[in-house]
Order: sequence, then C-alpha cells, then structure tokens
Amino acid sequence: MLCIKTLEWKIAHIPRSLPLVTSHEAEYTSTNIFLRIETDDAIGYGSAAPTDVTGETEQTVCATLESLRDMLHGKTFTHAFDVLGRMQEAIAGHPSAKAALDMALFDCLARLEGKPLFRLFGAQRDRLPLFVTIPLVDKDISVDIANRLIAGGFGHLKMKVGNNYREDLGRIEAVRRQHTQAVIAADANQGYSRTQAHDFCLAAEKLGVTFVEQPIAKEDTKGMRALVELHILPIVADEALLTFEDAAALEQNPYANGVTLKLMKHGGITPNRSISAACERAGCFTLQGCMGESQLSIAAGLHCALADPNSTHVDLDSFLNLAADPCSGLRIENGTLIAPAKPGLGIDVHWDDF
Ligand SMILES: [Mg+2]
Repeated sequence: MLCIKTLEWKIAHIPRSLPLVTSHEAEYTSTNIFLRIETDDAIGYGSAAPTDVTGETEQTVCATLESLRDMLHGKTFTHAFDVLGRMQEAIAGHPSAKAALDMALFDCLARLEGKPLFRLFGAQRDRLPLFVTIPLVDKDISVDIANRLIAGGFGHLKMKVGNNYREDLGRIEAVRRQHTQAVIAADANQGYSRTQAHDFCLAAEKLGVTFVEQPIAKEDTKGMRALVELHILPIVADEALLTFEDAAALEQNPYANGVTLKLMKHGGITPNRSISAACERAGCFTLQGCMGESQLSIAAGLHCALADPNSTHVDLDSFLNLAADPCSGLRIENGTLIAPAKPGLGIDVHWDDF
C-alpha cells in the first residue's frame, strides 16, 4: 500500500555558466521546480523544468502540483502505478509537472528496494558516453569551447546550429580541423528551411557529422521524411516528438532515424519508457536528452537510458552549465556519465540550501 503523506515543492532559478544560445533564443537562467514527497516508508525527489517546448511555465507547474497534492494527499493506493494512472486520468498535458511526481515515486520505489533505479530496471551497465553542447556562438568561441571540452576528456560534441547554415558549417569545419577524432553532432532546433537543411546535410556529412537533430520545423514531418529518404546522414527528431502517439506514428511515417527522448516533454519515466520502446519498434535509435535540468532529473534520464538497449549515448549535459546545482551525486569519467550506486535516483538534494 502507498499513501503520500506530504507533497511539497520549491522553485529554483539557477544561473547558467554560459547562456544557452540556440537558433531562436538565448537563455541565461534555468528554472527547476523541485518536488519532495514523503510516503509511509520513504522519501522521494523529482523535478520539473518548464519550457516553451512543453508549453509550461513556472506558474502552470506549481498549479498542477497543487492539483496533484489535493488529489493524492492522504489517499491510499495499491501501488505507485495506481498513483500515476490517477494522475494521467485527471490531468491532460503539463508533462514536466507530471514528470516531477513520476520520478519522485520511482525514487521512493527504488529506495525501498535498496537498489539504484537502473538496477531495478534490469540494466547491467552504469555509464554511457555523454554528448556536451556547444551553443550557437561564433567560430572562435566554438573552437575555444571544443578545445576545453576535449581537454577535459569529452569526446562527443553536439553543436547548436540553425541560423546561417554556411556559417554553421564554417564553425563545424573549424572544430573538426582541430579535433579529427571527436564525434560531432548538430542540433538546428528547427532553424533551417527544407533547402537549407538539405544543403547543410550534404556538407555536414563530408565533415563527419554523426547526425542532425530537428533540422526543420517540427510540423514538417514530410520534409523530415524526405531528408531521411536521401540517406545523407541520420536525422533525429526532438521537438517533433512529444507523445506516445507521436512515437507510434513513426512506424507508419518514418520521418526520423533517431529520437531525442526527454523526461520533461514526455511526462516522466513511465511514458519515456513506453515511447523509447515504440521508437525501437520503428527502428529508431534513441538519445536521452534534457532541458536545462539539475543533476536530479538528469540522473532520472540516465537511469532510463541505461536500461534502454537502443541508447548508446546520452545528451544529458545541462547540469554542467549550471552555476550552482542544488543537487549532487553524478560522476563523469573519460567523457562518460556514471549513475550513482546508491538506492533510488541516488542523488543528494540539498533541500535546505535553496
Ligand atoms: Mg534538441
């Protein structure tokens, strides 16, 4: 039996070390709403990171958590999945707010089992190579950042592109010249037209770019499919794929070779796992990504990726760019992200420090 005795949250506006510059904005801070739940037997933590992609704000997340508190507080459920089912029935949308409760429940469950969550999911591995983002900044700064990352042991770079494709190619070429062995991917965040995306992909393939993420508008799955059918290089869907229905549709309409999964856009660990299974059925590789998140939800994403045989890398780097993360416990070695060996999500949340 499971009874949620307390459900409380705190809002954190965390400055980023470097602004996250993409093809359509520059973000200087990251908003995370941290959730703490207490059941009869355990404490669990989760967090929400609202963004334009999920259509949420700090206010909508807090309002959703208030509704959840009213709905769940003091009630007894047979299992955590009953709580999650009740949440899905009662609330449409608001995926990052739901993700906070979903991951807090998984934190509780795994703590009660005395195992790290990825072990509970049956994963054997505890680490995966980490892509680190280079924002959409000019060529010299891009090279400086790449130099620093490679010197720090990272081998996988994801360069933000999508403004001016010729300049973007110049930036990639400059980084490639210095780092012939690096794995370089590009993320346009919908910034190109179909023609620009086509020309970019042709040149990017020659520069050894591994994949191109969301090159064109999320609604234009027809244009994405045309790029996939040209077999120039793998095309990854991010903003275009939010729900299970979106992932299931990939089997009929293969408009991507890979998918970036995010707990915040899917609504937590439970939907993330069913969406990753649907991606696998559609023959797509998966890459667990993030949205300006602290180590807490980054760890939750890592536990999912470790248990997903279709994931060979993760794109869970946002915590590296937070000036002061209120959570700790993750480790990085030789460019790989390592899940904590402690029970649950394995993260220490410094609740009283923020
Ligand atoms: Mg992306």
